[in-house]
Amino acid sequence: MADKGKLVVFSGFSGAGKGTIMKELMKKFGSDYALSISATTRNPRPGEEHGREYFFVTTDEFEDMIQKGALLEYAKYVSNYYGTPRAYVEEQLNAGKNVILEIEIQGALKIKQRFPDTLLMFVCAPSADELKNRLVGRGTESEDVCRQRLSRAYEESLGIENYDYLVVNDEIDKCVELVDDIIKNDGLSNKNDNHRISSNIDFIKEMKNELLSFSKGE
Ligand code: 5GP
Repeated sequence: MADKGKLVVFSGFSGAGKGTIMKELMKKFGSDYALSISATTRNPRPGEEHGREYFFVTTDEFEDMIQKGALLEYAKYVSNYYGTPRAYVEEQLNAGKNVILEIEIQGALKIKQRFPDTLLMFVCAPSADELKNRLVGRGTESEDVCRQRLSRAYEESLGIENYDYLVVNDEIDKCVELVDDIIKNDGLSNKNDNHRISSNIDFIKEMKNELLSFSKGE
């Protein structure tokens, strides 16, 4: 039987470019990974498709999935539910694939508790200013939702220390190569130790302070 695959959680502030990184990672190294598709109650953005970016479901449908134990974890994020369907993840891990969950921090911590070997990665924009510009600039959310997402980013920044690695998304191609390299070398070599959370404490502190100012509306 094939060895079990590795479970990888990929989180990051709204606007950090997680979705783009995941798309490019699958384009380049898709045969090495299975990307879990979450269920959510939020509305699709233009261009998003049911079953590709998310399974878009009603609140009743989502609560039914919770009841039936069909979700590995779930969380509420800025007034919508998001959750990881269990069956696909278990199937792919058993088939020896590395499975990636692109989820927020509460879900990430639940997964780590249940599966302690999970590798937790956090992606940041190069600065909080840049994060704000990207989030507002992509124009997919209202001003009010952007504000809520930035304030959520501050809350999430308080939990970054629970993660294993920090990846700064300044250049997409480099970032994708790095994510792949970290996943494949974790536990085998020290080459990416400079991307460990513990090596980036000052950067994280600065990010937290900037996000705190934004969340106060400064
Ligand atoms: P967005 O609405 O921008 O697509 O996602 C909002 C947040 O929900 C992001 O931080 C994303 O990573 C997170 N998210 C997406 N799917 C899941 C999931 O299945 N579980 C949890 N806990 N968070 C998720």
